[in-house]
Amino acid sequence: MKSTDLTVTVEEALRIVLDSTLPLSSESIPIMKASNRVLYNDVVADTNVPPLDDSGMDGYAIIAADTTGASRDRPARLQVLGEIQAGASIEGKEVTKGTAIRIMTGAPIPRGADAVIQVEDTEEEPGYVKVFRETERFENYRFAGESIKVGDIILRKGDRLTSAKVGILASLNHDTVTVYRQPTVSIISTGNELADIGEEIRFGQIRNINAYSLYSEVGKYGGIPHYLGIVKDTMAETREMFLKALESDVVISTGGVSMGKYDFVKDIFADLGIDISFEWVKVKPGRPCTFGKKGDKLVFGLPGNPVSSLTSFIQFVRPALLRLMGATRIHKPVVDAILDEDINKPAGKVFLLRGRFTIRDNEFRVVTTGNQKSSVLRSMSEANCLIVVPENTTRMKAGERVAIQLIEHDEV
Ligand code: AMP
Ligand code: MG
Repeated sequence: MKSTDLTVTVEEALRIVLDSTLPLSSESIPIMKASNRVLYNDVVADTNVPPLDDSGMDGYAIIAADTTGASRDRPARLQVLGEIQAGASIEGKEVTKGTAIRIMTGAPIPRGADAVIQVEDTEEEPGYVKVFRETERFENYRFAGESIKVGDIILRKGDRLTSAKVGILASLNHDTVTVYRQPTVSIISTGNELADIGEEIRFGQIRNINAYSLYSEVGKYGGIPHYLGIVKDTMAETREMFLKALESDVVISTGGVSMGKYDFVKDIFADLGIDISFEWVKVKPGRPCTFGKKGDKLVFGLPGNPVSSLTSFIQFVRPALLRLMGATRIHKPVVDAILDEDINKPAGKVFLLRGRFTIRDNEFRVVTTGNQKSSVLRSMSEANCLIVVPENTTRMKAGERVAIQLIEHDEV
């Protein structure tokens, strides 16, 4: 007899998964490979950025007070003492009253100068430059340490490395960075009816979809996916496959976790000593969904239907992968949207409807993307959000507000 104990709500399931998940160890990698990885340590600046006061414009380093009262008709006329290129030395260079030094963007500001007037507001004549407007002190003047000061905690443990953060590491002369290790993730498809891509389809067979959409998801959230293949619905084969899969940090299987006579993935979990925390979630799609642990390894027996396995992945596996690789922001943004159609559903579980939001007049508006059967992946491929219809809500009218989870957006 298969039991329906171990039923949890979506919130409980997520809490159980997160409580069971600890970040992995660290590794040092080149910053060029660090995009999207998560910092293992705070990064403290040991240099100022920029290192020196420098110019924010091509123009002339001047003393601002020398331009008092200057205008197009009555320009200030300053003697040009020389030139400073970006990267050049300023030794022996000094701006004194009534003089200027031609300067390029990024070049160090010479002694004496307290502003840079951009070339567009000047005109050079032999030996002199005419300045056509008053210049304020520190105009176009970039201060040493203005971006980053020595001692600043500039990046934090748990930060996901965006391109700008990789740039910060470069500005501090780091060619490597210590990040959390990426989880390895084994993916198994179960089902006698499955034919893999390229295999001949016999009567009654369907293509194996889940392995590929989940492979894509695992990579997207920082895991290293290993696709182990299709396993037939036999105890022996399933057992052997899971044994192999348990070499990874995370195991994801699809199918075989429901009430069918040949759904014995959970029996195999028990047999392999996987400690099961839940087997059913009060949600549609995705009710059959098993989660367990063996030691530190996380094992997810996801449902077989392609939409169910993807939405279960998004709700439970994705946050676990992010936590394993050290991320502190793991929740997809949820915002309120105005429904543009009526929705009816039975009470008793949360529905996560595939939807598409647009933004009109500063408001999120949302519609469903069509056929909501768990087997219809098409409506998932057209979705950019999941409409969260609460457990005990049965009817919603167009114009009402509903929560939507933005599944294509970064975590917050
Ligand atoms: P199950 O829970 O194993 O009975 O699977 C539920 C439904 O999902 C069945 O219609 C299966 O054919 C389908 N299914 C299971 N695994 C896959 C897969 N990898 N790709 C596409 N459909 C699948
Ligand atoms: Mg099956």
